[in-house]
Amino acid sequence: MMVNSPKDELRARGLRITRPRVAVLDVLGEHPHATVDLIAEAVRAKLGRISKQAVYDVLAACVDAGLVRRIEPAGSPALFETRTGDNHHHLVCRDCRVTTDVDCATDARPCLTPSDDAGYALDEAEVVFWGLCPSCQLKQQSHPSEKRSFV
Ligand SMILES: [Zn+2]
Ligand SMILES: [Zn+2]
Repeated sequence: MMVNSPKDELRARGLRITRPRVAVLDVLGEHPHATVDLIAEAVRAKLGRISKQAVYDVLAACVDAGLVRRIEPAGSPALFETRTGDNHHHLVCRDCRVTTDVDCATDARPCLTPSDDAGYALDEAEVVFWGLCPSCQLKQQSHPSEKRSFV
């Protein structure tokens, strides 16, 4: 989670402070795991017109600087968040795609050890836990006939 204001974070990482950058970071503070579409829409509500490409450019600069993390669960568009550098993982609902942060169960990186590292110097294991979120479980219980198969 970003503790400082977007302006302070940008300054600390040596990035120029621009209105689109501050707006994108503000939006991500309010909507962790946001898609580019959602970010662009919310930034437009704050600043007026801004192209999706401009939003992409801001996100790319922030990802490069370590201010923003990009995750891409299989079958989902890329999701962006400002919680970086803490090796946390994600729970993703197969049905509604809601995404929830979960702290890593160990402190060490990578937190999983492969059966064979094949000589790689490993520094990260990215884990996505798939399942049904609590509200989708409730929905299934109340409408069992609508049970979906996920194949
Ligand atoms: Zn769900
Ligand atoms: Zn996260």
